[in-house]
Amino acid sequence: MEESSQGSFVTTINEEYETICWGCGLNLVLPSYAPVFKCGWCGAITNQNPVRLETRNFGLRRFRDRCFVVILAVFMLFVICGGIWAAFPVVFSISLACGIFHSVTAVSLAISTLSTFILVAFKCAGKPIDIVFGTHPGVGSGALNNYTFCHHCSKPKSPRTHHCRTCGMCVLDMDHHCPFIGNCVGAGNHKNFIAFLISAVISTIYAAVMCVYTLIHILPPLENQAVYASDMAHANSLSVLRVVKNITLAYIANAIFVSVRGLVLVYLFVASFSVAIGLSVLLWQQLSYIYEGKTYLSHLSSQGSEEDGEKSCGNLLKFFGCPPLIERYLPTIRNLRKSHKT
Ligand SMILES: [Zn+2]
Ligand SMILES: [Zn+2]
Ligand SMILES: [Zn+2]
Repeated sequence: MEESSQGSFVTTINEEYETICWGCGLNLVLPSYAPVFKCGWCGAITNQNPVRLETRNFGLRRFRDRCFVVILAVFMLFVICGGIWAAFPVVFSISLACGIFHSVTAVSLAISTLSTFILVAFKCAGKPIDIVFGTHPGVGSGALNNYTFCHHCSKPKSPRTHHCRTCGMCVLDMDHHCPFIGNCVGAGNHKNFIAFLISAVISTIYAAVMCVYTLIHILPPLENQAVYASDMAHANSLSVLRVVKNITLAYIANAIFVSVRGLVLVYLFVASFSVAIGLSVLLWQQLSYIYEGKTYLSHLSSQGSEEDGEKSCGNLLKFFGCPPLIERYLPTIRNLRKSHKT
């Protein structure tokens, strides 16, 4: 038993395996065949048995995603038009200035939400540079630390770059694939995504408030009640029937008008309020990941481990492209710890 185990150990040592690093192109000698190995020079990770991803029906899936985005945009337009139809006659009846103010606010919010939605849905989420396997130019020591190679796109992937099966491409700093925009959220459109969320949250809160405001104003009962009552008091036997008919018709017309408008407003309130809650949670989650210097996917992969970036408001400022000077005056975890120690 002992001899045979020693014998097999010796053979493994002697079985040297020569291969090439995709990053720096160096010939590497491994003690044995390893499907995945890390280059000692550039730090790139080579996977010799890459998993082949499903690429069938890719065009169909993209078409379905785009159709969903168009349907969602049409639905948003429908909600905006429905809101304007239901609320604005009431708002204008209060005062012209009030009507103009709310028209300008509603149109600005609608334009900003729709334009950021279209932008985030159709903008490229961030493509890594093209490079041929093993020919990365001028790679220094540790320059490609933890980089891998995507065999579908023939591109190097930084630790935060991921290949999206739905988009069929590698996405730089990929956060997640969002089915509602039919696109990935990555380095190319992350800012637009946050802008869309902010705009959508403000718009839905505004819509919910306007629905309640309008509903309160249309609650009073039949208009001209006093006029009808005086008509009734002065009517002779022949004109009573005519007045009763007029009152009945006016009541039915008013009831239909109020009920349709009321139903639309109640529906819009429930829809916008629930969407506002959902999007606020998503926005809060996104901002907290940016604050931690992470993306959603890097947050998932670092869960339970200690490899955390520094939590700082500077991460938020860097993300939105603010000048680094402002950063000094904002409290960071490190600054707070320093002041605590001293
Ligand atoms: Zn290498
Ligand atoms: Zn890829
Ligand atoms: Zn994607």
